[in-house]
Amino acid sequence: MHPGAMADKSIPGSSSIPMNCFPGLAAISASALIDMAWGAPDFTFDFIRRLGIDCDARQNGTLRAATNALTAKAVGTTAAQCLARGMPTRLLDAKQTALATGTDRYPAALFDPRGGDLHPLNYARGLAAAAQNAGASIHGGSRVISARKQSGQWFLHTDKATVVVEKLLVVTNAYADGLWPDLKKSLVPVFSSIVATQPLPVDVVAHILPDRPVLYESGHITVYYRIDAENRLLMGGRGPQRALTGQTGALDYLKHYAERLRPELKGTRWTHAWNGQLAITPDHLPHLHEPAEDALIYLGCNGRGVALATAMGKQLALASGRRVFRSDRPSRDRYRANAVSRSVADRRAFHDDLGQNEGPAGYLKSLDKRRKLTILEYFLIYKFIRCTKIIEFIR
Ligand SMILES: Cc1cc2nc3c(=O)[nH]c(=O)nc-3n(C[C@H](O)[C@H](O)[C@H](O)COP(=O)(O)OP(=O)(O)OC[C@H]3O[C@@H](n4cnc5c(N)ncnc54)[C@H](O)[C@@H]3O)c2cc1C
Repeated sequence: MHPGAMADKSIPGSSSIPMNCFPGLAAISASALIDMAWGAPDFTFDFIRRLGIDCDARQNGTLRAATNALTAKAVGTTAAQCLARGMPTRLLDAKQTALATGTDRYPAALFDPRGGDLHPLNYARGLAAAAQNAGASIHGGSRVISARKQSGQWFLHTDKATVVVEKLLVVTNAYADGLWPDLKKSLVPVFSSIVATQPLPVDVVAHILPDRPVLYESGHITVYYRIDAENRLLMGGRGPQRALTGQTGALDYLKHYAERLRPELKGTRWTHAWNGQLAITPDHLPHLHEPAEDALIYLGCNGRGVALATAMGKQLALASGRRVFRSDRPSRDRYRANAVSRSVADRRAFHDDLGQNEGPAGYLKSLDKRRKLTILEYFLIYKFIRCTKIIEFIR
């Protein structure tokens, strides 16, 4: 299997969901959003177990590692906030961090046992299979060129066919094109890259992240890495702002950084490289738009979408079924060109309602058969779009 399929990891919380940045939202709303975002990995791993998806899912935790005194302070602040919210996180000092990482590079780290990693292509394939088992039909590689509403239905035109649907989710994220007017102006698409070694000798990998958590650095430039199920080191972070076609030479910065961290890697073959685009939003929050009746747009996981987008899949399914939004919500979102976020009123409705959902395990149970199918259809179509992107990665 090409390790291009092993790009992502699942990270608890989100740099895009800070603990204290919700002016204008009722405390309960912010609280619900924080809990959903930081609980997204638990939701994802539970979901994988329930669907029986074989994707090397490992819940060995995440380390958010400080790279200097300043970021150590920030990590400490986040750790205190997590503890205050009763989260199962632990702040590690320099010595504990060295034991957890195998290097003395980091003065401190926040360990969150809910995080972990998975094989994203197999995850997407598992989701697609579950959707098909539930009756969904999947059409990969077909770009929607236009979406028009007529007689209460959406007509989605591709260059080969037209699909007619009752409800529409636009989840094109950083790849937003001209499908929805001006949507792409509401985000900044940024490439992130990964370079992978050949499978490493056992005596070398034994000292790198020995308990196999994933690590991301808290610094000016984010670097993230992990050892995958085949004992490859996957180093992710800054790279060229254009699509890579497998050439590892374009990611020398990451290779050199890895070799500075781990001198024993000198001489190791770097066999694979790939990249893709993340959607960064100006306010670093995910955005939900309701631009028309029976249409929702979601984007902006800000680089944390493996778990967060999974958890949002449930929210979107419920929102599409009108189970999330309150019937008396103040106003519908009016999508604007250059919109950077929803109106506060709509945000409040959305986040308030996040707090009113039943737990992950129960959400499908309470629905009748038809609704169950519809939810899975929405969710899996949404995930399948991700799958097509990952497949694009490995071409
Ligand atoms: C190299 C790399 C490493 C990453 N590492 C991590 C990580 O460790 N942890 C983490 O949580 N996240 C990570 N991410 C981010 C994560 O991949 C994203 O947050 C996540 O994929 C977002 O999911 P999404 O479904 O919202 O959008 P995407 O996965 O971007 O999917 C959008 C899809 O929409 C399709 N599309 C666009 N326009 C149209 C159209 N008109 N018609 C039909 N389809 C269309 C695109 O082709 C694309 O497939 C990483 C990303 C990259 C690139």
